[in-house]
Amino acid sequence: MMLIDTHAHIYDSQFANDQESMLRHADSQQISQIWMPNCARETIAGMMDLADRYPERCLPMMGLHPAYVNETVEAELATVEDQLNRHAFMAVGEIGLDFYWDMSFVDRQFMAFETQLRWAAIHKLPVSMHTRSGHDRNAFAEAADLIEKLALPGLTGIFHCFVGTLDEAKRAIQLGFKLGIGGVATFKNGGLDKVLPHVGLEHLVLETDAPYLAPVPYRGKRNEPAYIRLIAQRVADLKQINLDDVARHTTANARALLPTLYANLLPS
Ligand SMILES: [Zn+2]
Repeated sequence: MMLIDTHAHIYDSQFANDQESMLRHADSQQISQIWMPNCARETIAGMMDLADRYPERCLPMMGLHPAYVNETVEAELATVEDQLNRHAFMAVGEIGLDFYWDMSFVDRQFMAFETQLRWAAIHKLPVSMHTRSGHDRNAFAEAADLIEKLALPGLTGIFHCFVGTLDEAKRAIQLGFKLGIGGVATFKNGGLDKVLPHVGLEHLVLETDAPYLAPVPYRGKRNEPAYIRLIAQRVADLKQINLDDVARHTTANARALLPTLYANLLPS
């Protein structure tokens, strides 16, 4: 079995004291790759340190997270652009819209999101997208509207932490994107039990979003990539198929998104 965690902030300070054992634990659960979304300038050094030490397992993305968009957005984006020209990142991320916390920089969030979607198309990289609703605004719908309007050739990627309805799942698929399924799938009122049975396995990838959103039975505790196994098992249960099928398909789906350089790191 081979699994891929398509979204984990393993450079987070919550792993500062046990990074090595956390990675060993992931290895013991057959997690072959861990994809690391960047947040802002302050997270680059820690992420690249892991990417340098584990070049085959810990794959870095580059992007500005919407919750980190504020009055410094121009300088942040200049750094992202410079980094994209300098290194071989596996994706642009995480980017998107966050209406949950602070609405004061929404216009700048849209500007940063559109700018980074264009860079992804130029660099031929997939995107890892964060769409968190709030203040009576649906971030998924507004992100999908923007992607549709831009119609960037070849643009693809993942709606990370997908928690939408079946109609939204269908819209994401129609736009050519995968659904990133994480710990919420294991939550009693997560809502994905009504969606996943009706969505084909070819549209799903797995993620933890570590250190956040730990699956049951670790809900509320620190999350880590090894728990991908619990999420895969939950998808298998909801779809009434076996774990091996979930692993095989979601890994193939994730691999298909990767730039060749990184896809070649995986055993065939
Ligand atoms: Zn994230």
